[in-house]
Amino acid sequence: MVTTKRISSRLGFLILLITFCASPVLAQASEPADKENEVLAILWQQSSGEHRALCYQAYALARMLLDRDLHNHRIRMRRAMILDLDETVWDTSSYEAMNVKLKRAYPEGWNEWMNQARATALPGALEFLNYANSRGVRVFYVTNRKTVAKEATEQNLKRLGFPAVNDETVLMRDDPAVESKTARRKAISAKYHVVLLMGDDLNDFDEVFEKSKTIASRIEATDRNRSQFGTHFIVLPNPMYGNWANSLYEYNFKLTEHQKAEKRRGLLKD
Ligand SMILES: [Mg+2]
Repeated sequence: MVTTKRISSRLGFLILLITFCASPVLAQASEPADKENEVLAILWQQSSGEHRALCYQAYALARMLLDRDLHNHRIRMRRAMILDLDETVWDTSSYEAMNVKLKRAYPEGWNEWMNQARATALPGALEFLNYANSRGVRVFYVTNRKTVAKEATEQNLKRLGFPAVNDETVLMRDDPAVESKTARRKAISAKYHVVLLMGDDLNDFDEVFEKSKTIASRIEATDRNRSQFGTHFIVLPNPMYGNWANSLYEYNFKLTEHQKAEKRRGLLKD
């Protein structure tokens, strides 16, 4: 009996030791995503008049630029416009809000969310795109959503009343390994006069931004291309996520939440 007790207590100690040694690894692997730092950004998008106003402002500028272009009768090619989807023509902040509540991080649940086709139109987007379509401008939706969500994405666009939604105008990320939109943009501009590009991420506009990964190089590329903003490129606000946020972490997606918080604090300019 005593021996059995001794053995079981030794066994118990061993199990305890193994559990203790393994626990940091386990904790890291299953660390819940503390997205508390994103709450204010999501609330700004969902609750501020300022976010709505910026969307109206972006689409009002788009209308002015399109009308100016339509007055140029020397343009012979058919006109087109290139727009990103998420946080450009529609709002996906409810997915971000859900992640905060469930302590989850992208891409968990993203495919399921997309397949529910529940994105809502951003202020001004529907009116502007229907106007452009009525003026004979071809609207292209160039998104990095993967092809698994193509049907739901088209269904979502149609349900909201966006114009010209079909397999030729909705260009998904066909190759999961290729994040760049450059090839899709080039294919469009080979056939059309591209009046405008609209997006919430610098990578929605030009290859030069895709190649700029650091905070400094993104800022430098933006300054160098300043003449394009407000004339050919129109940027919509997205404080929740994007390559601006990836650059804070030097694209290291393996950082723990604690390490990310340290990075953010270290970057603050006081
Ligand atoms: Mg986007």
